Amino acid sequence: VRDGENFVINGTKRFITAAGRSDYVQLMAVTDPEKRARGGITCFAVDLKTPGVTLERQWPTMMGEAPWQILFDNARVPAANVIGEIGGGFSLAQKWISEGRIRGHGARPVGIAQRALDLMIEYAKVRVTFGRPLADRQAIQFMIADSAMELHATRLMVYECAWRQDQGEDVRNLSYMVKVTATEMASRVVDRAIQVHGGLGLMKELPLEWWYRQIRSTRITEGANEVLRWRLGQNIIRSHA
Ligand SMILES: Cc1cc2nc3c(=O)[nH]c(=O)nc-3n(C[C@H](O)[C@H](O)[C@H](O)COP(=O)(O)OP(=O)(O)OC[C@H]3O[C@@H](n4cnc5c(N)ncnc54)[C@H](O)[C@@H]3O)c2cc1C
Repeated sequence: VRDGENFVINGTKRFITAAGRSDYVQLMAVTDPEKRARGGITCFAVDLKTPGVTLERQWPTMMGEAPWQILFDNARVPAANVIGEIGGGFSLAQKWISEGRIRGHGARPVGIAQRALDLMIEYAKVRVTFGRPLADRQAIQFMIADSAMELHATRLMVYECAWRQDQGEDVRNLSYMVKVTATEMASRVVDRAIQVHGGLGLMKELPLEWWYRQIRSTRITEGANEVLRWRLGQNIIRSHA
């Protein structure tokens, strides 16, 4: 709510990465409840030392990180701290989130899947069961082939999306496709890599179980995959001539 030269912010935001080691947060707040996403959301830079701003607690996760919960209780933020235009926060967020999706939820899953596939192949060559290396078994070859195909297709998708973003194109829909495809592809590849390693795949000695936990989170964070599919479907239907 605007009050002279300040905005008075109230509300709670759960799950904020790295807030405990930050001086400022980027806050998206509703400044016009009627317009909401269509011009009613504003982006602020908020000093975490502002009276009324409290880091309430951390939420430990299966990935090892522990995002914060932040309470805003009548926190007065100067209007000078508005980033961009008043009401322009949603489109800024869309742009930043697209970039994050390509990098953290596109390129990173591709890297994880590549390493998991490498480990899968290396182990299949050396592990002998019932007199033959796993690599000789068609069931294992199929897992390797499927992983290689899915990884290759996803990598090209990520490259194309990143390239279009660099050309200044609107890549919102493509970034949805990248995020959903890459996170689900890497989930399958890491899962297969664990399967090929047998009991060893479950051990903390290898990075596989760690990737398994990390990659699981990416189907939820930066927009749940169901929400992105929903939005993508809506956008495609709307823009279809
Ligand atoms: C470790 C971690 C770090 C995070 N860091 C940040 C951060 O730094 N900044 C930040 O702003 N947020 C952050 N978040 C929040 C994160 O972006 C959200 O958790 C995520 O977008 C999902 O929202 P939600 O948890 O409210 O799930 P909900 O919206 O409650 O959804 C729950 C489930 O319901 C389903 N669902 C929801 N809507 C629909 C729909 N329309 N159609 C079909 N199915 C649907 C999906 O399966 C979804 O997983 C973080 C979360 C975690 C876990």
